[in-house]
Amino acid sequence: MLLVRAAHAININNQSPMPFSIRGGLMRIAIIGTGYVGLVTGACFADLGNDVVCIDVIEDKVRAINEGKVPIYEPGLEGLLRKQLAEGRLRATTDMDAMLGAEVSFLCVGTPSRKDGSLDLKYVRSAARAVGERLALMDRRHTVVVKSTVMPGTTRDVVLPILERTSGHRSGKDFGVAMNPEFLKEGMAVHDFMHPDRIVIGAEDDDAAKVLSELYLGFDCPMLRVDTATAEMVKVASNAFLATRISFVNEVGNVCKSLGIDFRKVAEGMGLDPRVGRYFLRAGCGFGGSCFPKDLKGLIAVSKRQNIRPLLLEAVQRVNQVQPDRMLSLLEQHIDPHGKNIAVLGLAFKPDTDDVREASSHRVVLRLRKKGANVFVYDPKAMDNFRREHPDVTYCRTARECVDASDAVLLLTEWKEFEDPSLYGDKLVVDGRGVVRTKNYEGICW
Ligand code: NAD
Repeated sequence: MLLVRAAHAININNQSPMPFSIRGGLMRIAIIGTGYVGLVTGACFADLGNDVVCIDVIEDKVRAINEGKVPIYEPGLEGLLRKQLAEGRLRATTDMDAMLGAEVSFLCVGTPSRKDGSLDLKYVRSAARAVGERLALMDRRHTVVVKSTVMPGTTRDVVLPILERTSGHRSGKDFGVAMNPEFLKEGMAVHDFMHPDRIVIGAEDDDAAKVLSELYLGFDCPMLRVDTATAEMVKVASNAFLATRISFVNEVGNVCKSLGIDFRKVAEGMGLDPRVGRYFLRAGCGFGGSCFPKDLKGLIAVSKRQNIRPLLLEAVQRVNQVQPDRMLSLLEQHIDPHGKNIAVLGLAFKPDTDDVREASSHRVVLRLRKKGANVFVYDPKAMDNFRREHPDVTYCRTARECVDASDAVLLLTEWKEFEDPSLYGDKLVVDGRGVVRTKNYEGICW
């Protein structure tokens, strides 16, 4: 294992500059899968001066990208994309042959959960097959990098054999294989990509590691060089640990509330201990998104396959599953929601994103409806995504319209526009995120 600062990675290793680069460290890059991770990765690498082609199977997405329209909501991404398109450093296509000119390809396809919690690798396998078929046609070295989150061993035991089988070429000799997990946070994705805390390079061969080291040359952060399975575990374990912190603070926060203690003050005190640290101590109505729940489930499934009972991880999951229910219990301490109009403000799993995957809002809305409430919802960005799964609630045009229509308000996402106390008058507000303080108020853990 080698830890160096990215900006000096090559010098520290006493290695000469890469033979593969075309323009002094700049490369031709293919991004396979242009969702949250792929599009941010592509746009940022282009902004650093690389030539980027974004490849996706969805034609509408590709068309939108080429027109400078970002198919997701991510602050700063649209401006960055337009700049790269205008300067000719980025284009999108559905044609996999476009990767033939590239030196590096990044697999950024989705890895959703299966029913048993393990990750569904169908997109990874099909992308790897498509890449392998193109590797067969290439006469110069290419490096394939897995950026999707996958469980430990996937790059080495699943992706690499597919690439060898479909290309007829040998990994390490004819092409390189690496795993480079992505740590970006939705809502801050461009910033996180450009200013990472660390860069983890898992590689199956030294040349693949060198290609990635050169690509990331100039980033001023620690760079960790490990094998691919370790890189995969760094990502999964980081997410499982962050999820654990959240379930921990939620559980302790619930106890605090029952004792009349404001957990936010407790968190402040805890965070002053550098061993604890002040981040990820915000109690609330549960974590969601496309990563924490999925990666936690995936690690639980891996543990069980290894005959290790993941007692802690299972508890983290269970605490998170029931935490949104507290929103209803607290509401019911004041009113019976049956036949009442209840406003739900915030549907996205966090602010500054339109992503509603595994958001607490799903469970809260379903339970409100089951209890016979008329549900009014509003979110500045995530209503279209939420509507696909919940067409039968009332979608409001503004937060005020939503509040005015309701007998009580549940706050599920800490969007800035919900912070104004005058929005609520003397309506009952059950606050699941610590957004505001109003006259008639119930906080989830304070
Ligand atoms: P996403 O669903 O938004 O995007 C995946 C894209 O891949 C889609 O556009 C899909 O059409 C495309 N795709 C599927 N098969 C393809 C193929 N064969 N060829 C080309 N394109 C194909 O997913 P995402 O949120 O960007 O996540 C991608 C991966 O990164 C996942 O493993 C996820 O766990 C991980 N990750 C996500 C985040 C995040 O915040 N979203 C952060 C870190 C890591």
